[in-house]
Amino acid sequence: MHKQFDDKPRSPDAVMPSRREALMVGAGLLAAPLMASLVPAANAADTGASVGGGPFPARAYGATSATSPLGPLQIERRVVGPRDVLLDVLYCGVCHSDIHVARSEWGPTHYPCVPGHEVIGRVQAVGSAVTKFKIGDIAGVGCMVNSCGTCENCQADLEQYCLKGNTLTYDSPDPATGKHTLGGYSNKIVVTEHFVIRIPPGADLPATAPLLCAGITTFSPMQHWKVAGGQRVGVIGLGGLGHVAVKLAVARKVDVTVFTTSPGKIADARRLGAQGAVLSTDVEAMKGLAKFDFLISTVPEAFPMQPFINLLKLDGTLVNVGAMNPLEDVHGLGLARARRSLAGSIIGGIAETQEVIDYCTARNIKADVELIQPANINKAFDRVVNKDVRYRFVIDMTTSA
Ligand SMILES: [Zn+2]
Ligand SMILES: [Zn+2]
Repeated sequence: MHKQFDDKPRSPDAVMPSRREALMVGAGLLAAPLMASLVPAANAADTGASVGGGPFPARAYGATSATSPLGPLQIERRVVGPRDVLLDVLYCGVCHSDIHVARSEWGPTHYPCVPGHEVIGRVQAVGSAVTKFKIGDIAGVGCMVNSCGTCENCQADLEQYCLKGNTLTYDSPDPATGKHTLGGYSNKIVVTEHFVIRIPPGADLPATAPLLCAGITTFSPMQHWKVAGGQRVGVIGLGGLGHVAVKLAVARKVDVTVFTTSPGKIADARRLGAQGAVLSTDVEAMKGLAKFDFLISTVPEAFPMQPFINLLKLDGTLVNVGAMNPLEDVHGLGLARARRSLAGSIIGGIAETQEVIDYCTARNIKADVELIQPANINKAFDRVVNKDVRYRFVIDMTTSA
């Protein structure tokens, strides 16, 4: 059970070093990060870290309108409260959602907009009540940074379905500040402890970042619909989400087929472990396929779904995790005649997000990533839209000036 996620920024002494941290400093360990965490606000601009002095500045990359390119911005992060963790961001994945929101494609966005919800960082400071993290730990932040903590869905570790509305990592009303949240395209982020994920030692950090959205988004429905050995599973779309879905399905020892509209991705699907790969524009090839138990659609926009629904066995399910706009071409009889289900699923709860990170690290499952500098984010956005990425851009924040 968790409560009081909506802690407001606290008094100037909100963050006190724990006895353990004080001892480590005394021993000369971790002195630099701790000193950084304790600098007063006057020095915040030098260190980028201000804890205890009020909100502090951070560097970010964001958009100031739906049509402007992303550029460097200075933003404000809230003071670290008792249950908060301050991360020095190391890597942040580039999700297609980032583009949709930066460009107001899912309704009006609040500007400035700083996207980014596949965040990996190093803990720079922790609040006095934080128990899960200590300074120097590697940690992650996914798509949510808060929820009510008390509704039946939150109590069931399903914060993604919070009945009172959760707080997303960016462009979401933030009860803690009264503003809108700003995401991980930034050098610092402050997040309440419950929504921070432990990253196990040995994880490949840039390749793990995308698992915080793409990984959990495809893992959660496979868990819920109990995808398991012996089944036939299809992954529709081979992009950021799709390529992770293939790896996660292969790990379950199912027979995996990839559906793509890109002839150039057929060979890649097999490299990723799929037994089959089909050009979904090839009507004859589609008709000749054996039926599937489970299909997951990762395509980030609507497309005619009935040809895929027709491929489901009796009681089969197609789960849409990609398109978040009105769906196209779904026929009532086409569902009814084999008791098929069309379902949706969105990310996963915090406990399940921790589970997918631990699961993937233990099995060496990671995203295929291309590291970019923050200055190249606009080019990366264009390449994502043009399906010219194999398969996830990750912004390297460690070298940004
Ligand atoms: Zn995402
Ligand atoms: Zn809730």
